[in-house]
Order: sequence, then C-alpha cells, then structure tokens
Amino acid sequence: MFSRISEVFKKAEEGKKVSVRGWVYRERTSGNLRFLVIRDASGVLQCAVKKDKVDEKSWKGASDAYIESSIEITGTTKKDDRAPGGFELQVEKVHLISRGEPFPISKDLSEEFLLDVRHLWLRSQKMTNIMKARYYIESYLHEFFDKEGFYELAPPIITKSQCEGGSTLFGMDYFGEKAYLTQSSQLYAEVFIFGLEKVYVLAPSFRAEKSRTIRHLAEYWHLEPEMAWYSEEDNMKLQENMVEYVVQKMVKEHSDLLEACGRKPDELKQVKTPFPRLDYEDAVERVNELGGKMKKGEDFGADEEAVLTKEYDVPLFVHNFPKDIKAFYMREDPKKPGTVLNNDLLAPHGHGEIIGGSERIWELDELVTRMKEFGLDPDGDMKWYVDLRRYGSVPHSGFGLGVERLTKWILNLDHIRDAIPLPRTITRCYP
Ligand code: ATP
Ligand code: MG
Repeated sequence: MFSRISEVFKKAEEGKKVSVRGWVYRERTSGNLRFLVIRDASGVLQCAVKKDKVDEKSWKGASDAYIESSIEITGTTKKDDRAPGGFELQVEKVHLISRGEPFPISKDLSEEFLLDVRHLWLRSQKMTNIMKARYYIESYLHEFFDKEGFYELAPPIITKSQCEGGSTLFGMDYFGEKAYLTQSSQLYAEVFIFGLEKVYVLAPSFRAEKSRTIRHLAEYWHLEPEMAWYSEEDNMKLQENMVEYVVQKMVKEHSDLLEACGRKPDELKQVKTPFPRLDYEDAVERVNELGGKMKKGEDFGADEEAVLTKEYDVPLFVHNFPKDIKAFYMREDPKKPGTVLNNDLLAPHGHGEIIGGSERIWELDELVTRMKEFGLDPDGDMKWYVDLRRYGSVPHSGFGLGVERLTKWILNLDHIRDAIPLPRTITRCYP
C-alpha cells in the first residue's frame, strides 16, 4: 500500500513504516549517504538512503536515480527540522521504476526553452501549483452557478457564424464548405435560455490574435453565462458576485497555494462587492488626467487599462461604450442613445479586461436594422439567431469571462500562457 506524501505529513507520527512512489525531485550524495527528495502530486518528501542499511539493489537504484526518474521507496518516518515538512524517511528499500535519461531541465533556462519542453516543465512545482489553483478556480465557478440555479450546456465548436468580427477567425474546410472554429459560444448560449432561462457554457474559444501580448491566447477557455429576463444592471451584479465568490473561496480554502503561486492572500481579501463603476466617457477622461492620450470613441488598450486600474485594489466596471465600437448584438441604452448597455470588468493593477458583458438586443426590428448596419445578412448563416427574436423573445443579458485571464489576475502571473497547460499563441502550437 502506497501513501500519498501529504498523508505521510498529515499523520505526523514518528517511527511509522510507509511506502511512497513518485519522481526524484532533488538528489545529493555525501559518501555512503544518498538523499533523494521524492515528489508526488501532493507534495515532496526527503528520503535518506544509507548504504549499510539497505540491500545492494536498493543502493544501486538510489545511486543511479536521476532527477525525474520514477521510483518507489519504503522506509520509516523520522522527525527532522531540516527536511521539508519536518519529516524525513529513513529508507529500507528502493525500487527504481524507470531511470530514464538525464532530465533536460535544470536551473536558469530561458522562457523560450521552457516553452519548447513544456510537456516536461509541467511537472515543476511552479506549474503544478498553478494548475491546481486553476482547477479550484474553475470548480468554484461551477459551484457558484450551481447555487444560482444555472444549467451548464455544451455548444458546438465548429460554426458558420462569426460573432466577434472576421479578423480573428480560424477558418476550416467543413466537407467542402467554409466553417470556423468558434470565437465565442454566446450566440448559442442565447438559444439555450428559451428552454432553461439561466445557462452557462464553458468551452474553448479560438481567436487568431495577430499580435503578441501577455494576455491573448489563440485558444482559451471561455465561460459564458446567459440569462433570460436579466437587465444589464442584474448582469453586472451577477458578475461581481461571481468574482467575489471565487476570490474569497480561494483566500479561505487555498491561501498556501496562492502564496506558492506568488499572490499574497491579503491583497485579495479586499475584493468585496460592490465594485466601482465608471461610465465610458468618464473613464476616457480619467485615463487622460492620469497621463494617457485617448480620444472619445476609441477602445481601451492594455496601456489605458493599466493606467485606469492602477488606483484600484478591486476590479472596475466600465460601462456604456459607444455603440459603433461594440458588437452588433448589444442593446442601445434608451436613456443614453449612441451608447450600449454593456460593461467590461477590468482587473486591478494592470491585469486588464477579464469580462465583457451586455444586455442583448431582443426585439426583432432593432436586431435586423443593426445587423444590416454591420453588413451582416439577417437571412444568411445567422438566420437562426434572428429567429430567436421571432418567437417569444424576452429581454436578456450575458457575459464572457476568460478563465485564463481570471487565473492570471488571481495568481498574479506575469503572462497568460502560464494559466493554461499547453498554450497556443501566434508563435506557438507545440508541444
Ligand atoms: P481584448 O480587448 O482584451 O482583446 P475582447 O474585447 O476581444 O478582449 P471579448 O470578445 O469581450 O474580449 O471576450 C470576452 C472575454 O474573453 C474577455 O473579457 C477576456 O477575458 C477573454 N478573452 C478575449 N480574447 C482572449 C484571448 N485572445 N485570450 C484569452 N482570453 C481572451
Ligand atoms: Mg480581442
């Protein structure tokens, strides 16, 4: 019976015989003593192998082991303040499972090299910590929507409709016809509300982003809730409650993991609703007061978002953007014509946009008119979408959250590519 390393520490008993299995994380020899630090998915454990205390095969296995060789070890626990976790294993038996070849990753390697060997680098403490944290973040997102009475549905990934503009589409041949990898599942999420009212989709979105940035991937995981009967006000409340829920759960349940990833839990404790809000026009003025150079009618770039969020410790809503710089499906604000009922949610300290949301146009005439203004054919490949407004349409709203953007901010990562195991970007589709 093998114990997980975290279990060995949890019991914290001295003189207990245990077997563990995993990979060699560190190794060091000092005369007839060999130290192997073993890791499994749950932690690391220092093991001391003394030549005169083990059989010949065990000593050879321990001596031959490289970093990342796979190994099984049996021994007795002993308190040792110098060992990680305060325990050491005094080894009785070693079984080298696969010695393999010398591991190609050592210290001080370039980011580019680590990306080339990402399939191996994913074993590092850095990456395993981030991947655990990402898993918890996603779990709490699911938990939040479950509590709120939402249903999760699966959308198609291959589509004929382009919802975020043609410039970032990945096209493909679909049995002789042109089709695309989806940029967003929103339009399909809208289909689902007529049966289930409150729904969400968590699926990959694909965007042929032509520039290199620290927050754009070509393939990312997109959480897209869509709610019948919700106004844009209800929509923003849902977004802030969701963000607060996930962040506070991470602080409460995983503060050690946050620390290990480079985020001080105290910084996140302040993330409490209601989040501050700025109207688009006020936000542009504020950017310019703070030294930016923006004209009204332009969208915020990474620099402008960084300037704007510098003063905040919590995410900031910017709402009511000019209608011509936003997507065709956003509803015009009857109280502020020329602007739409939409919002971006910007993470503090320059992490930038994590959510884009809006109330959708729900009346048939308005949608048809707007589609024509955007050069879209209401009777073409998107006829099905227009149809939704033909049969019992209702006011509704929704938003899109980039899971890697949320993870990047919560864990305070330098680059979005570390928030996903195997990143796809303009320069990389390997491994
Ligand atoms: P940006 O201005 O940063 O490119 P966007 O306006 O194109 O974002 P939306 O189309 O509103 O973004 O998409 C909704 C959310 O999806 C964004 O708020 C962001 O969290 C995420 N997102 C968008 N593009 C990417 C990308 N290329 N890589 C990772 N996440 C993305
Ligand atoms: Mg974009």
